[in-house]
Amino acid sequence: MPLADYRRRRKFALTPEPVGRVRQRSKRIFVVQKHAASHLHYDFRLAIHGVLVSWAVPKGPSMDPADKHLAIRTEDHPLEYAKFEGVIPEGQYGAGTVMVWDAGAYDSTNDTLTPEQQLAQGKVDVELHGVKLRGGFALVRTDKSLLSTGRERWLLIKRRDEYADQSWNINNPRLDYSVLTDRTLKQIERGEPKKMLSHAHAIV
Ligand code: MN
Repeated sequence: MPLADYRRRRKFALTPEPVGRVRQRSKRIFVVQKHAASHLHYDFRLAIHGVLVSWAVPKGPSMDPADKHLAIRTEDHPLEYAKFEGVIPEGQYGAGTVMVWDAGAYDSTNDTLTPEQQLAQGKVDVELHGVKLRGGFALVRTDKSLLSTGRERWLLIKRRDEYADQSWNINNPRLDYSVLTDRTLKQIERGEPKKMLSHAHAIV
């Protein structure tokens, strides 16, 4: 059942994360959440068949086509999660601070297969229209073997196009802000007031 895994892992009385529901359809949006859990990582999510199909990317996305960053497929999240930003309390699944690091529309760049079919085949080609991430990206499942956790191992790779950037460094402090509320991870953690950016409603 869709979202069963998502719901099983969480106690919604104790976490501010949305319960959410499965939709019949979804707009083609993506979101990347910066997540300061026990290990800092980035969660890359694509809206496909009414849920956010999700990968945890330990090193985060890169605009440098030379980087092939590990992306571990995780449980589908509800579409409502695209706007989730805040602090998951200590002791709960994924405890730590979550930032909406980037978001926007995406297009499928495979002319013959839908995103759902591409997902099943283990190769998803998209063009991202984010604030920080732009242009072509590929998600590629590396092999059939699963990690010890039962998760699939994929790679996230930037396509060579006019947006490619060999000098990309995700640890640049200038990238540490929410595209939804213009806050740094520390400001979100401290619960500083949200500053809704003018484009925030358009992106997710
Ligand atoms: Mn995460």
